[in-house]
Amino acid sequence: MEYGIDAVRIESMLTRLAKITATPGQGVTRLPFTPEMSRAAVLLEEWMTDAGLAVRQDASGAVIGTLRGERDRTVVIASHYDSVQYGGAYDGSAGVVCGIEIARAFAKRGKPLDTLAIVATNDEEGARFGSGFFSTKAFLGQHTDESLSAAKDACGISTLQAMRQFGLSPERLPEAAWDLEKVAAFLEIHIEQSTALEQAGAVLGIVTGIVGMRRRMITVYGRAGHAGTVPMLGRCDAMEIASAAISRVGDIARGFPQTVATVGHIAAESNEINTIAKQVTFSLDVRSPDLARLEATDRLILEELKQACDRFGGRYETTVTLEQPPAPMDEGLQALLTACAKERGIPVHALPSGAGHDSLLMASRVPTAMLFVPSRDGISHCPEEWSDCGHLAHAAGVACAAIEKIMKQS
Ligand SMILES: [Zn+2]
Repeated sequence: MEYGIDAVRIESMLTRLAKITATPGQGVTRLPFTPEMSRAAVLLEEWMTDAGLAVRQDASGAVIGTLRGERDRTVVIASHYDSVQYGGAYDGSAGVVCGIEIARAFAKRGKPLDTLAIVATNDEEGARFGSGFFSTKAFLGQHTDESLSAAKDACGISTLQAMRQFGLSPERLPEAAWDLEKVAAFLEIHIEQSTALEQAGAVLGIVTGIVGMRRRMITVYGRAGHAGTVPMLGRCDAMEIASAAISRVGDIARGFPQTVATVGHIAAESNEINTIAKQVTFSLDVRSPDLARLEATDRLILEELKQACDRFGGRYETTVTLEQPPAPMDEGLQALLTACAKERGIPVHALPSGAGHDSLLMASRVPTAMLFVPSRDGISHCPEEWSDCGHLAHAAGVACAAIEKIMKQS
């Protein structure tokens, strides 16, 4: 294949990487700052060295392989090498392995114009400490002593303690920050984890952006009473008010393209079979690649709730618990990747990403783009996760062609 990209080698690397797991026989469990991450880092360092790169592990636990170019301007290929609990062999790892394959292709051609960096990030998933994007936050200099001590795993071990046990010094974390001025492009190859590419019959996905998210908790206050004696006309039932709004959530979101809204949690008080609910608390999670659609969906759902409150004489309170604006991918890079794929006759499909990735954090600071490959049946975060290594090889080939063109730009 073009650039010497080898699907068989990609597959064999992924198979070997998948064997480094805390849960053999039950999928890949590679949590940050664990012996499995150390073993995976050693293997990645070996592969990167073999591909012709100078390798180091940074203070965040990211493994970085560099092919020095004529100039300091750098093209980055990144993905994560940690996993969720009982995860699959492709999430994160696929992008890391493709990066090594891309680097091998460039190393064979001698010194490139721009420097090429292959970055395997640590703790993107947040499966151990809940937060995630650990390496990318370090690249952007966003860590604080407080956040490192506050985040704890299920055993009560803080990120700070876990780093020390792993042999990394938290005091050196600021050294992992990047000089962002030098980054010409940040590219991430990843499995889609959904079914849009399969449905479109595409081999590659060009990510238009990573969806924005607003998460809130809502509490509706009504009036408790006897389920048998309070007449229907005099009721202020928190459950009736909440459900009037909740039943509209799906149709309101369906009114906006690529927008989703979910009520995944609900709790009633007093939660008794013969008592009218005095209070109902529920969650609302709205996501969209477009901030205006996200806000309109959220607003219309709250308007429904307000109307139901007014009708029955109840009231509600709400707090936003997470606010993440959409991260559009760089338009120039999207066009370049699309053109490189089309020149090779590879069917592409443009789509937003409903999941967060390292690119989510990088996109606001450096030109960022993502390439997706189809996930069989859209299944991910479980041992059944599977993608075609031939598709991954196409992604790596398209990335090589795009990188060549990026390097020709001054
Ligand atoms: Zn991932």
